[in-house]
Amino acid sequence: MEIANAVGANSGAPRTNRVVLEGVGARVIRGPDWKWGKQDGGEGHVGTVRNFESPDEVVVVWDNGTAANYRCSGQYDLRIFDSAPTGIKHDGTMCDTCRQQPIFGIRWKCAECGNYDLCSVCYHGDKHHLRHRFYRITTPGSERLFLETRRKSKKIAVRGIFPGARVVRGVDWQWEDQDGGNGRRGKVQEIQDWSAASPRSAAYIVWDNGSKNLYRVGFEGMADLKVVNDAKGQTVYRDHLPCLGDQGAGRSGPPDLKIGDQVNVDLELEIVQSLQHGHGGWTDGMFECLSSTGAVVGIDEDHDIVVAYNSGNRWTFNPAVLTKIAAPPVLRHRFYRITTPGSERLFLETRRKSKKIAEI
Ligand SMILES: [Zn+2]
Ligand SMILES: [Zn+2]
Repeated sequence: MEIANAVGANSGAPRTNRVVLEGVGARVIRGPDWKWGKQDGGEGHVGTVRNFESPDEVVVVWDNGTAANYRCSGQYDLRIFDSAPTGIKHDGTMCDTCRQQPIFGIRWKCAECGNYDLCSVCYHGDKHHLRHRFYRITTPGSERLFLETRRKSKKIAVRGIFPGARVVRGVDWQWEDQDGGNGRRGKVQEIQDWSAASPRSAAYIVWDNGSKNLYRVGFEGMADLKVVNDAKGQTVYRDHLPCLGDQGAGRSGPPDLKIGDQVNVDLELEIVQSLQHGHGGWTDGMFECLSSTGAVVGIDEDHDIVVAYNSGNRWTFNPAVLTKIAAPPVLRHRFYRITTPGSERLFLETRRKSKKIAEI
């Protein structure tokens, strides 16, 4: 749910462009364009985003200790299993099942109930109706994506540093001989928060020598541990997980809007009013914006957005209050091209992903 009183944080904050680095520490699994064999340990095995070499290329340390570069632009080698360790959070929201507040990581918003949100653990943990369709909101202000029902979707188990796994020290170890010496083993008891701002970013270990402590698994991209016998984590709806680098996943800030985009106002009134201070303000006439979709018709010199509605009214908004509506689903359908009757039919890419040229 959205909570009216949690505003302050965002309002008036400078619009900085903290791109790429936002994804550091995300926990990932292999993505749809993966072609790197078993570097990751197999499908569903988890790793940590260590750093970005460029906006197109990212370094991942898999829980098994292997590290390599992967593609995160155009071709997607990775999906984000959990972005909570990166500190991404959705101010003004609460998970309606476990009451996490705000929601860290990916936010899942029921498309069929008013004001009903889940965190990632609860969404993949099958909370709420499996026949209800959800929107996935990867970062605050990013384009929301309308998903298939979970009931019809493939589920896989993630594996790696999870409770029960056996581990040794990893590449970022800096804790002397707490483990009893290099190569000595311990057992994962629980996944915990390294800090309140970085949930699910650490593992609590009991070493075979009896000592116990918390170690970084994701926090700031660090891998203090390496798995020798992995364990099963939760199961996830694989195809519902965002690709790292796609549609601003792993980025933050207001959506990148352009003329013609369809937008909604998807926040509680109090939050909207607060965010509108200094961005054109709020008047009672603007209530229509809460219940209808508008089209971007202008972007002013302060980067505020002018939106036109069916009523004929135009209103100016802080981009932070707007949610971009994804391309109509029909463009995602794939077609066969049949050139002549009886000729071989060719299966095409979606039009949505394909290059379009203007007539000359
Ligand atoms: Zn939850
Ligand atoms: Zn629902």
